[in-house]
Amino acid sequence: MSLSQDTLAESIRKEAEKHYSDDPSHDWLHAERVCRMCMRICGEEGGDPKVLIAAALLHDVGMKYELEQGVDHSEKSVEIAKEILSRIGFPSEKISMVLEAIREHRFRKGVKAVSIESRILQDADRLDAMGAIGVARSFAHGGRRRIPMYSSGRGTGSTVDHFYEKLLKLKNSLNTETARRIAEERHAFMEEFLSRFLKEIEGEA
Ligand code: FE
Repeated sequence: MSLSQDTLAESIRKEAEKHYSDDPSHDWLHAERVCRMCMRICGEEGGDPKVLIAAALLHDVGMKYELEQGVDHSEKSVEIAKEILSRIGFPSEKISMVLEAIREHRFRKGVKAVSIESRILQDADRLDAMGAIGVARSFAHGGRRRIPMYSSGRGTGSTVDHFYEKLLKLKNSLNTETARRIAEERHAFMEEFLSRFLKEIEGEA
């Protein structure tokens, strides 16, 4: 990161960190990891690094309001991001690129990301749901919502079910070649984790 990119990240942190949820699956640390992954992918795939830093650090800034008030977090994030970016003097001609990437990042909407920055942010966000981090976030999320870790029959909304319903499908939903490469190891780790976890449940390992 160049100095000006560091400065940008720091001014965003000062404004955005307080808005972030304390839910460990969507907190400020998640935004920072997504930002680092965006930079890594950007180094190989291109895109505007400043747009990506801003989009990554602000992409879930509205999550607290979704959890507390039930509003859509991507719309709320766009609203807060717009306000923060104008306040810190982010280049105004690039604000719409940031907001577009935030709007399009969401998994559930099945949104197809268009710009390179949107495609990279979506990939980085999905990669953060995979691998060891993905495992940790899933159980943190499940614990917070009192969801059982696993169930005796499948399909009852346990955290293990979430792996089969969403996380193990993520590697086939990525936009960039770089993310697909990084995803391979993360995917393999989740499969390894699950097979051991299921064996330990049965007392077989
Ligand atoms: Fe996210």
